Amino acid sequence: METKPISYAGFSVLVPTDWDVGAIRLEQGMTMLGIQDAERNRIEVRWEKAGLKKARQEARRKGKPMEKRLLRPDEVSEKFHQEAKKKIKGLDVQEGVAEEKIGGHTAAISSWSDSQGSGYDAVWFCGNTDRYYYLHFVGAEEQFRSIIKGITCHTSLPYYRWQYLGLNLSLPKDFELVSQKAEVGRLIAVFRGYWEPQKKKGPASFLRPAPLPEPRRLMVERYNLTRLGDADPAPWARKEINSLGHKYLGGIKFEKREEDQAVNGHRASALLFSQGGGLFRKPSAFYLACSWTCPESNSAYLLVVPLKPHHDYRQDEKLPTCPQYVSCHWAAAETSINPAVENHEGSGSEKGSEQQHKSS
Ligand SMILES: [Zn+2]
Ligand SMILES: [Zn+2]
Repeated sequence: METKPISYAGFSVLVPTDWDVGAIRLEQGMTMLGIQDAERNRIEVRWEKAGLKKARQEARRKGKPMEKRLLRPDEVSEKFHQEAKKKIKGLDVQEGVAEEKIGGHTAAISSWSDSQGSGYDAVWFCGNTDRYYYLHFVGAEEQFRSIIKGITCHTSLPYYRWQYLGLNLSLPKDFELVSQKAEVGRLIAVFRGYWEPQKKKGPASFLRPAPLPEPRRLMVERYNLTRLGDADPAPWARKEINSLGHKYLGGIKFEKREEDQAVNGHRASALLFSQGGGLFRKPSAFYLACSWTCPESNSAYLLVVPLKPHHDYRQDEKLPTCPQYVSCHWAAAETSINPAVENHEGSGSEKGSEQQHKSS
């Protein structure tokens, strides 16, 4: 069976090539990803913070033993299904039908059936990311086994991959998806991260609370070249960046600085934008917008990245370089690399999770 990776915020799974993300839900600290073939949902994966890291920090701060006891995966699985049974009529679950390793951790496996079909669920705790994972799978045992073999739930790399619906990004780990729009031939993804808070100097800093880190937004748009037709990509990009900036950043202004750069071997144009500011005020933020067309993937790309604060980029001789966050045309070749292998190297994941259980 030919497979491809779907990656999202540190989670990655190898699926048949005709499957892709069909639903994304973000609610109260829970992320839900629905992955499906042409007909129906095949995988639903959810994750949420277990809160162990926070509890440990708290205990260290107070100098007291940790209050939180971490639930075992089988306990979480049972609780999860009790809730599910309230919503799904006729849901029948067999807990603990097997124990498997997923991403190097021990997962509790259950089988289920309802009026719609049958399949398997897996629940595990990933100590590296402090996440509980819930995997709901619709289908037969053989496919379930091959799916869980291709799962990565944490990475030792300094970035997270985002590979879905034709996007292929490698972003710093602190970026999270906050908004997205998908339509035929067009995908817009908006991410949010935070700058390191500015350190206040002087003795008073002990008394003053630490300043909140400033948010930073990053936007990626992939646009089908066929949809662009004969239109010149450059004016299109300029117009599009302005409308994205208006919609997701609350307005940005072109600073009349434009430079030719290269992204993945394509000629790209880099443009400087600012936000805030006025006749007598300096802008509060700067953004670099990069646009290029990739004939290999039949797409035009826009990448709008936030620039480090507290610097006026208008006076610089050269603009900052477009970061290599987007892989536009070698997505297919990378499919052959098993992300599970790439990411598990030396991560010592199982040890990590066992220690966490012992200390609970
Ligand atoms: Zn993990
Ligand atoms: Zn390309």
